[in-house]
Amino acid sequence: MKKSTSNTQLVHADRLLNRPQHGAVHEATNNSVLFEFEDVAQLESVFQGKEAGHVYSRSSSGSAVALQNMLCALEDGVGAVAFATGMAGISGVLFSLLKAGDHIIVSQFLFGNTRSFMETLQQFGIQISFVDVSYAQCVQDAINENTTLVFCESIANPGTQVSDIEGIVKLCTEHDLLFILDNTMTPATMLNAKALNVSMIVTSLTKYIGGHGNVLGGAAVDLGNYNWENFSNISDKYKVADTSQWGLTQIRKRGLRDMGATLAPASAHQISVGLETLNLRLDKTCINAMAIAKFLDTHASVAKVFYPGMPEHPQHARAKALFNGQFGGILSFELNNNIDMRKFLNALQLVICATHLGDTRTLALPVATTIFYENGPEQREVMGIGDSMIRMSIGIEDAQDVIDDIAQALAVCSER
Ligand SMILES: *Cc1c(COP(=O)(O)O)cnc(C)c1O
Repeated sequence: MKKSTSNTQLVHADRLLNRPQHGAVHEATNNSVLFEFEDVAQLESVFQGKEAGHVYSRSSSGSAVALQNMLCALEDGVGAVAFATGMAGISGVLFSLLKAGDHIIVSQFLFGNTRSFMETLQQFGIQISFVDVSYAQCVQDAINENTTLVFCESIANPGTQVSDIEGIVKLCTEHDLLFILDNTMTPATMLNAKALNVSMIVTSLTKYIGGHGNVLGGAAVDLGNYNWENFSNISDKYKVADTSQWGLTQIRKRGLRDMGATLAPASAHQISVGLETLNLRLDKTCINAMAIAKFLDTHASVAKVFYPGMPEHPQHARAKALFNGQFGGILSFELNNNIDMRKFLNALQLVICATHLGDTRTLALPVATTIFYENGPEQREVMGIGDSMIRMSIGIEDAQDVIDDIAQALAVCSER
């Protein structure tokens, strides 16, 4: 299910939503940390949230608000908060909303750093069930009287498991649970999380939205589908505006003001420029990924390909329905047992061996020995990560050039 986000909307969003001064087409990057007021009465009124404005740029700045407006429009939400990184967004949201004694249900296939952060949360007295979110039944079985929220990713990496978003939404609606979806892999141009009734999305802006490997950022967007009156952890102090804003108000006060993981104004500008070409880049990325997955699938040296676009992928039909016929830019594969995975990676000449994803350039990474090394063999097995698994983040090059590079590297490592 695709949102009606058009290239036209993305290209003109900054100009039309933010109305920059002097006819500029970008909101100006303003680096001021402090803000001056007409008089003390106005200072007090802005501090108390009675009047719009900025008091100190750790809490808000014009540049961050301009990006938030664009992200909110992109997801058709009721509000957005930008953070310094994707991890700052995830940790800021969860630390702001949870308290000791809460129980949460989380995907067992999480992005490695998110998984590691969940273990930090456990040290603060939050109970966590890690479940297979490709089956809503596994989520249902984990619900207890202290459960407050469910957290998962649309498409996991490197295993490319696709969450049962519709099934989980149904359960969360029945049990008044907040459903937070990390949709980094499937921005709004691929997935209409609002229409599916997801409560809130969190995303790494560093990936497809920024898109060029030159800026870090993260965000949370409240999609307006959740009734915050059912969430017992909202402090009375933050029940100020209408109920739709309660969650984000608490996240801004705690996650930004108190914890300080604020997005820098210059970064907000760079990300907003990336956003203009999101659709174009993602379309090309998905086309390339499909072509490269098909090439790998038929190659004699490749044992297994993980890509939701392949008909034999366990959640292929679900991915097709949810992501409007697109399947994302991440694929993983395993080479035949007798082939040295390191020799293959070292032989790549165009594809870069690096950790990152959602870039314009195609990247490759051995996952078990790098980003999932800390998790250890047992967790890796539950996550479906084999020792020789290679993850690729497909870029926007001409697909044939990437295929040629993979083919020559496979030829080199298959030599006896
Ligand atoms: C990269 C990533 C993050 C973290 O984002 P950063 O901007 O690198 O902090 C979170 N979730 C997913 C799914 C990611 O791919």
